Amino acid sequence: MRAIDCQDDVREVLYTEEQIHARIAEMAREIERDYEGREPLLIGVLKGAVMVVSDLARELRCPVKMDWMAVSSYGSGTESSGVVRIIKDLDADLTGRDVLIVEDIIDSGLTLTWLKSNLESRGPNSVEICTLLRKPSRLKSDVPVKYIGYDVPNEFVVGYGLDFDERYRHLRDVVVLKPHVYGGEEE
Ligand code: 5GP
Repeated sequence: MRAIDCQDDVREVLYTEEQIHARIAEMAREIERDYEGREPLLIGVLKGAVMVVSDLARELRCPVKMDWMAVSSYGSGTESSGVVRIIKDLDADLTGRDVLIVEDIIDSGLTLTWLKSNLESRGPNSVEICTLLRKPSRLKSDVPVKYIGYDVPNEFVVGYGLDFDERYRHLRDVVVLKPHVYGGEEE
């Protein structure tokens, strides 16, 4: 079996690289069906969605374009407020485009609610959302999410693009860290 990078910091592997790739392939088949005859524009939300976008785009057997946006959500601690600032805007003109926002994880959903309405104001033909992970118990918004990889428990996860203090993004699996990483007590 493959050794897990940063093994000493990992409490639990939630999804392995193989499981993630298999789920992304299933989502790609759905997206191909839904966008038949069209060319979706995948919009990756930096930085966490980099891995999802690159694997999804390579899995799709239809023409796609990609663009990137970076936003920062004001809030206290780990709580998102829904008040968002654009750090890097899109290069693409969205007029008439079929936009698919691709996220790593949806927590409260407040950032995404703002982002969806911001992109809808730019004249696209459609705006849909795809996320690898969602924390249903934390949702504060009823923003419709068309493609969901996995619903996860309310735990802080890292890996496959997701970070803690900019670390662990490179891990191939989605994992939960041990409390000592955050300076907490071991269980
Ligand atoms: P929302 O506006 O949905 O509350 O915020 C979503 C953002 O919070 C995600 O894009 C991600 O940056 C961050 N986030 C929420 N939960 C987690 C988590 O479990 N792990 C990591 N690494 N980031 C998270």
